[in-house]
Amino acid sequence: MTTPKPIGRVEVFLVGAGPGDPGLMTVAGAAALKRADVVVYDYLANPLLLAHAPGSSECVYVGKKGFSNHVTQNEINSLLVDKARRLEARGGGVLVRLKGGDPFVFGRGGEEAAALRDAGVACSIIPGVTSGIAAPAYAGVPVTHRGMASSVAFIAGSEDPTKDESSLDWEGIAHGADTLCFYMGVRNLPLISRKLMEAGRDPETPVMLVRWATTPDQEVLSGTLATIAESAAAVGFKAPAIIVVGAVVALRERIAWYESGPLAGMTIAVTRARSQISALALRLRSLGACVLELPAIAIAPLPSYDEVDACIADLRSYRFVVFTSANGVKAFFERLSHAGLDSRALASARVAAIGPATAEELKGYGIAADFVPCEYRAEAVADQLIEAGLADGDRILVARAFEAREILPSMLRARGASVDVVPVYRTVAPSRESVEPSLSRLLAGDVDAVTFTSSSTVRNFASLVNDVSADSSSLLEGLSCYSIGPITSAAAFDEGFSIAAEAKEYTIPGLVEAIVEHRAACSEGK
Ligand code: SAH
Repeated sequence: MTTPKPIGRVEVFLVGAGPGDPGLMTVAGAAALKRADVVVYDYLANPLLLAHAPGSSECVYVGKKGFSNHVTQNEINSLLVDKARRLEARGGGVLVRLKGGDPFVFGRGGEEAAALRDAGVACSIIPGVTSGIAAPAYAGVPVTHRGMASSVAFIAGSEDPTKDESSLDWEGIAHGADTLCFYMGVRNLPLISRKLMEAGRDPETPVMLVRWATTPDQEVLSGTLATIAESAAAVGFKAPAIIVVGAVVALRERIAWYESGPLAGMTIAVTRARSQISALALRLRSLGACVLELPAIAIAPLPSYDEVDACIADLRSYRFVVFTSANGVKAFFERLSHAGLDSRALASARVAAIGPATAEELKGYGIAADFVPCEYRAEAVADQLIEAGLADGDRILVARAFEAREILPSMLRARGASVDVVPVYRTVAPSRESVEPSLSRLLAGDVDAVTFTSSSTVRNFASLVNDVSADSSSLLEGLSCYSIGPITSAAAFDEGFSIAAEAKEYTIPGLVEAIVEHRAACSEGK
């Protein structure tokens, strides 16, 4: 085997984008995209994933759909080599080739990797979740199941149906595995089901088609080998879909979750900072929602850390240190570490976390918060701190965002404390490019709801929308807005949004609960 010499400082990654749901790309894939200078992507790779790439990266679409190729495979291979060479000429860079599902499962990724290698360009492979596994999973079907199926096969169903002689070994396929997953087979469904029955598979074998799996457009059609072709023709079932054949398909009745979740079919935009989106996104996705990441705020460093550093040098003088957000915790501990210190510097203070997520973040630094309020209104927090032992004249350090509200510090001062408020980070509006793909989905009317978790996300979201649309009010009419609490709702009201539901408990789980309850109430009312 010849070992290709890395050309200059060029890195090339062949990345599996997963089947559609942007949450199903690997962490390694997202990390490669974050560093990309050039991204070459396909029809089946969700364009929302491009939001991981820096705004300055060049994104090249080489979509291929069915038999009508826009760009031939040879052209794509040459394009990849050419892009790598250009990066080399520039002194280096990262090229990401993003392909739907897994790059090496019917993705022609092998040809691209070989072509790159032949041209002397080293290339790493980052596998992806293939649709042959993800589509059945999102339809509630495990491809193997104890006592039912102990083997699974992935088969290309795209044979030309006009050919007299089939080039596939149908006997071998029919009996080669318990579960058969056909890719690219929709137009050949009559041929596939007939050949399998002729080869001896029971006509009663359950069959399922899953179209646009893992996306809000997912559609499932079930039947048997004997009936499926006719039912698919009757409803005009179209590609792209995975055809699953085998006894396991019957398990869908018991396991189906995606279409039956309380938020199924709903597309929800999440406007938190990108680093914080995942906790909320994961919960919403597990309830069946499609999540659109639209980070309306970004966390940014402060122009100067003098103030924080001075407080850190004097930490022993504080009776309480109050953290109001997980970001605040992170930023504070970065400064602590910058000063050569660690959690022990907080040994003499009592630590308060406003909210469970903040407390969770503290745990990561080895600190169990002494105090987490059970109610988050500033007045209530101040009262609870007094109950927790805050005495007149005690010094309190509140570490928080630059833009935060004054209310908690003033409530604490009103109760006799001497409060130092130090910003440890600031929030800024995101770059337009970073939210462009999600914004265009919003403009196209593809979004049902938006979640707000702070006043700044509301304000930034409003200005993003006003920037891109002259008629933002009609755009927002069909959009249900969900808020984490009264302060956020008030900010939304100021921006002209009406809130569909507000969290009773001002936390992420509380917000999710509000959405689920509101949706249930709406569908009951229908
Ligand atoms: N490399 C891809 C497969 C590419 S071949 C992978 O690993 O998934 C293209 C075929 O994949 C389509 O014709 C369809 O059969 C299947 N496919 C890809 N994404 C799909 C999706 N979201 N839902 C259903 N089928 C999908």
